[in-house]
Amino acid sequence: AELYGIRNWGAGYFDVAQSGDVVVYPFGDNRGPAVSIPEIIRGMRERGYDMPVLLRIENILDSQITSLHQSFRKAIGSLGYKGEYRGIFPIKVNQQQQVVEKIAQFGSRYHHGLEVGSKAELIAAVSQLRDHEACLVCNGYKDEEFIDLGLHAVRMGYKCFFVLEMASELPLILERSKCLGVRPLIGVRAKLSVKAGGHWTDSGGERSTFGLTTAQIVDVVDQLKDHDMLDCFQLLHYHLGSQVPNIRDIRAAVMEACRIYGGLVAEGAAMGFLDLGGGLAVDYDGSHTNYVSSRNYSLDEYCADIIEAVMNILDEEGIAHPHIVTESGRATVAYYSMLLFNILDVSRVEIGNLPDILPDDCPEPVRNMREALAGLTLRNLQECYNDAVYYRDEVRQQFLTGRITLRERTLGERYFWAIMKRIAQEKQKLKHVPKDLAEIDVALADIYYGNFSVFQSLPDSWAIDQLFPVVPLHRLNELPSRQGILSDITCDSDGRIDHFIDPQGVKGTLDLHPLKDGEEYYLGVFLVGAYQETLGDLHNLLGDTNVVSVRVHEDGSYEFVRELRGDSVADILSYVEYDPRRIIDDIREAAEQAVREGRITPSDRYRVMQAYEDGLRGYTYFER
Ligand code: PLP
Repeated sequence: AELYGIRNWGAGYFDVAQSGDVVVYPFGDNRGPAVSIPEIIRGMRERGYDMPVLLRIENILDSQITSLHQSFRKAIGSLGYKGEYRGIFPIKVNQQQQVVEKIAQFGSRYHHGLEVGSKAELIAAVSQLRDHEACLVCNGYKDEEFIDLGLHAVRMGYKCFFVLEMASELPLILERSKCLGVRPLIGVRAKLSVKAGGHWTDSGGERSTFGLTTAQIVDVVDQLKDHDMLDCFQLLHYHLGSQVPNIRDIRAAVMEACRIYGGLVAEGAAMGFLDLGGGLAVDYDGSHTNYVSSRNYSLDEYCADIIEAVMNILDEEGIAHPHIVTESGRATVAYYSMLLFNILDVSRVEIGNLPDILPDDCPEPVRNMREALAGLTLRNLQECYNDAVYYRDEVRQQFLTGRITLRERTLGERYFWAIMKRIAQEKQKLKHVPKDLAEIDVALADIYYGNFSVFQSLPDSWAIDQLFPVVPLHRLNELPSRQGILSDITCDSDGRIDHFIDPQGVKGTLDLHPLKDGEEYYLGVFLVGAYQETLGDLHNLLGDTNVVSVRVHEDGSYEFVRELRGDSVADILSYVEYDPRRIIDDIREAAEQAVREGRITPSDRYRVMQAYEDGLRGYTYFER
């Protein structure tokens, strides 16, 4: 567990059992029943589910929503705050129906609402949310149809707010409200001057593309006044960006927003809701720092700091405490999904036995590498490294011009890697390892080929080098003796994971076990419930993975409550506009032609067609 930092990033949900299996504590706090993930995998395989699988533990979602509300309630109670907390889930973070349904179900105890940013998201939200006390916040640019859908939701009793992202949205909202005879609930998204650090925080700050300046906000007040609708202006929203690692930025933003909120109350707007947007970070690397993959605050600190900051500013101005809304997405759903996959193969840097004597006609650069290897000592590591790289390039160059044979080039490569291996061993004795030499470990690492697609299942790992915890799911009572990187099964060199969590920061290789004959080796990528599913793409036509949702009972028994088959090959081909029936017709025609040409017999044709029809029904990933 220590090697992989599980207790640091696991938030009380994950650990390692004595058996060496990774276990999940569905109720958190590393307490209660512990369920072995490899055992869940066995259950899935018995039910015919192939890897990769996205596993969701429903209890974790329930627990995350509960902790968010309990932490806010604790802060509100202990500080004597007069408003309430109203959390909402931004659908964009995971729009999958079963996710939104569960959020609506688990959140109903707390009036947990939804945030939407498009017409499709609004329709999905209205279909899932039954609680009229919960907030339904419409962000995003709104056309007439979007506005009408929101107004109809108000008519049905939903607490549906239109948050103005652009000043130009207001006249249309006013016009449609009059037309449909519905008084709208209106909010504005403010552009704050505060900007947070982090990967995903471009949506905050004065230069952000979203939101209204203070001048535009004042203009909204004036327009609403003119229409005698200031009572409709009830919410102030801002969004600093996602994954805000530093609590200081969160506090500074709340304080600035409170000043604007106070100004709006002074202008006569009804107000009552302060919506702080998302940003509550996930400690992906478990470092508890303000590094981009982490956060330097606990949930309790987040809640207490917000409530305290709001009280400080608004009490000073004598303004009633608003209900606090946050749009936490990442922190709500990240923990509850994990990607599970098997390793298909491993490739290692193999050197084999080097010859005792080189033939007389052995090319010069190969001979030089052999000498460099023989003369390698702790004192000349960098020099040997430089020589090896130089002579290897020479070998490649001479091969290209036909002066070196294929076998001679192969021998040169083996000497090169033999030098690298020796340097890797010797450099461990150095106090300060030069950068070139430090990178040798990654170059020498084994490549573990995993049955998954980075592009489909972990797009942020590829696009922005986001760190996700990756852990072997079993054999953790054996010392992992290999260093590896992970390659997926797309034939794209970007389809790899080569940055991993390390107690000292980030490292280029992962500690892994050698494969055992006839035994599967399973890995899990954790904390993938936020953003990864709908951002994923169909690179190499690898589709959605199987999804299995598990609910654990108090006694530790569990059930597979929901199973979704991943895309079949036919599904995926239809996404890129092929018609599977037409495909079969076309292949049948090609096979019939092969019969006519005497290449295959009619019964061969039958088998060919069976194979293609089975292939279309099959999973897009590697099937054993
Ligand atoms: N609210 C808005 C308006 C957003 O754009 C986002 C995402 O960036 C969120 C909420 C969710 O943020 P997070 O996942 O950090 O909670």
